[in-house]
Amino acid sequence: MNNDPDITRGVKDGMRIMTGLAASRGFVTGPVFLFRTTANEQVSEYRVEQDQVAHELARLSDAFALTRTQIRSLALELGKRISGDEATIFDGHLMMLDDPAFLGSCKEKVSKNRVNAEVAVNVVSEKYSSIFAAMDDAYLKERAKDVNDIAKRIIRNLLGGADAHAFRAERPCIVVADELTPSETISMPKNLILGFATDRGSNTSHASLLARALGIPAVVGLGSISETVRTGDMLLLDGTRGKVIVNPGRAERLAFEKMVARSKTLEEKLEQGKLLPGATSDGHAVPLLANVDHSTPMTGLYSVGAEGVGLYRSEYLWLTFDREPTEEEQTHAYTEATRALPEGQPVTIRVLDLGGDKMTKGAAASHKEANPFLGNRSIRFLLRNPEVFRRQLRAILRASAHGNVQLMYPMVATIEELRAANLELHGCMAELREAGIPFNEKIKRGVMIEIPAAALIADALAKESDFFSIGTNDLIQYTLAVDRVNETVARLYQPTHPSVLLLIDMTVKAAHAHALPVSVCGETAADPVMAVLLVGMGVDELSMSPNLIPLVKKIVGQVAFSDARNLADTVRCMLGAPADKVYTYCRKQVMKLAPELLYLQ
Ligand code: PEP
Ligand code: MG
Repeated sequence: MNNDPDITRGVKDGMRIMTGLAASRGFVTGPVFLFRTTANEQVSEYRVEQDQVAHELARLSDAFALTRTQIRSLALELGKRISGDEATIFDGHLMMLDDPAFLGSCKEKVSKNRVNAEVAVNVVSEKYSSIFAAMDDAYLKERAKDVNDIAKRIIRNLLGGADAHAFRAERPCIVVADELTPSETISMPKNLILGFATDRGSNTSHASLLARALGIPAVVGLGSISETVRTGDMLLLDGTRGKVIVNPGRAERLAFEKMVARSKTLEEKLEQGKLLPGATSDGHAVPLLANVDHSTPMTGLYSVGAEGVGLYRSEYLWLTFDREPTEEEQTHAYTEATRALPEGQPVTIRVLDLGGDKMTKGAAASHKEANPFLGNRSIRFLLRNPEVFRRQLRAILRASAHGNVQLMYPMVATIEELRAANLELHGCMAELREAGIPFNEKIKRGVMIEIPAAALIADALAKESDFFSIGTNDLIQYTLAVDRVNETVARLYQPTHPSVLLLIDMTVKAAHAHALPVSVCGETAADPVMAVLLVGMGVDELSMSPNLIPLVKKIVGQVAFSDARNLADTVRCMLGAPADKVYTYCRKQVMKLAPELLYLQ
C-alpha cells in the first residue's frame, strides 16, 4: 500500500518522479547541485625523454606522498564524525598507496614506456581496478571504485592540484551525481549537504555506507537523474523509500514538508527499543526479519533490529554475475550470509526467481516470452532445468551446515511442483550424504504463497511443507491482473482489495491448522498500517527492507494483539467495500492505536 500518495501519484507538469534504491533514510528538500564525476581525469599523453625520466619519477613520488597526506587527513576527519566499520573506509586506500607494487608499476611504465606520470597512473590503476571488478565477492568488486578514486586524486595532484570537480556550492543543497566516490563524499562540507541522489550505486558502495553513517539521506541507482536535472532545480528526496521528485508542485511540497517535520520526531523515538524482539504491546511475539540479497551489508542488520532474514533473493546473484553462479560461488555467498547473522537467526534462502522483470541479459535475449510474468518463471524454470536447480539446492544445503538456513520455493502453483521440488531436494541430500558433505538433515522447506492458486490449495501445500511466506507483491498482481511494474495501472494495485485479504486469510488459516508459521515478505509487510492488519489476521512474522524494520517494529509494539485482531475482524466484514475505503478505515484505526503513525500523514 502506498504510504505517501503525494510522492507516487504521477507526473505533473514539469515535475519528474524518479525511483531508485533507498540508500540512507530520511527526507530532505532543497536545490540541486550537479556534481559530475563520470570519467577519470582527461589525461594527455606525452613522451618523456631520457633526461626527463628522473624528474618524472620524482613527480610521481611527490604525487603519491601528497595523496597519502590528503587521504590521512580525510580519514582523520571521518574518524571524528563517525565510528565503527565505516570509519575505516580509507584504510584500503592507504594500503593501496603504501603498496610498493602500485608505485613500482607506475614508475616502471614511466621508465620503460617513457610515458608521462599521469598516463602511467591511469594505465596501472585501470589494470588494478579491472582485477577487482572481475571478482565475484561483492565487497571486493566494490574496491575497484577505491582504486579509481585514488587514481583520480593522484592525477589531480600531478596536474597541480587542480580539482576539476570541486564542490563549489555555497548554500545547502542536494548533491546529484552519476556516482560518488567515498573521498568525494567525505570531502564535501557536511553542513552544506542535505542529501545525495545518484544515477548509479548499490547498497555496498562506499558512498552509500558513508551517507548512512553520516546520517545524510540518499537515494542511489536512479538511472539518469544527473542527465535530468540542472543545478538549482528543486528536489524532494525521500531516502526512506528511495524516491525523488524533481521540481515538485505546491501540493507535493506541502505534503512533503509536513512529513519531514513529523518524521523527525518519530525517528528519535524509533531508536528506543529497536533492538528488542518485535512484539505487540501485550507481548504477542511478531519477529521482524529482513529482505536481503547478496549485496546487502549483513552486519548492518543487527543495528536495525532485524531478527533474521525472511527472504534472501538469490536471483540477484545471477543478475549481478549475468550468468549462473557456480555451485561453489553460491555456497560461498549463502554461507557468508549465514555466518554474518547471530547464531540461531534464520536465513531464508529463496531458490531462483528469474523471469518476469528479472532476467539476465543472455536469458532476456534468448528466451523472449510474450508474457514473461505468466511464463517460464521461477520454480517452473528450475523444474525444466534440473541441473541448475540441483546446483542451487546443493549450495543451499551446504550452507545449512553453518547456521539456521531455511529453503523457500517461490511461485508454486500446484502440489506437483512442490513434490517435484522436494524430490530434487531429497536427491541432492542423498548425494551430499554419500559424499560425506555436511548439511542440516532437518532443513526447513517453505512455500511462497504468491499465486492465488497456491492460497486456494494452501491446505494441501501445508501438509508437505514447514512454513509459508506470503509474497504479496506477486499475490496482488496475479489476483487483480495488475502488472506490478506498470505505473499506468498502479492505482489498481490494491493490497486491501477484499480478494487479496481473503486469500491471505485462507493461507493463514490453512497454515495454522497444520501448525505451520506464516510470514509475509512482500512490501505490504513494510506498510505499518498493513503490518498491524496482517498481525491481526494471524500472520506470525513480517519480513521487509532492513531500513523499514525500526518503524514497523515500533508501530506493532504500540498496538495490543486483541486490538489488531478486532481490526482484522471488522475488515473481514467489509468485503463489499472498495479497497481504498478498507485501507482508510485501517489507517484511522491504527492511528488511534498508535499515534506514532503521524509519520505517514
Ligand atoms: C513477492 O512477490 O511478494 C516477493 C516477496 O517476491 P518478489 O518481490 O521478489 O517477487
Ligand atoms: Mg514474488
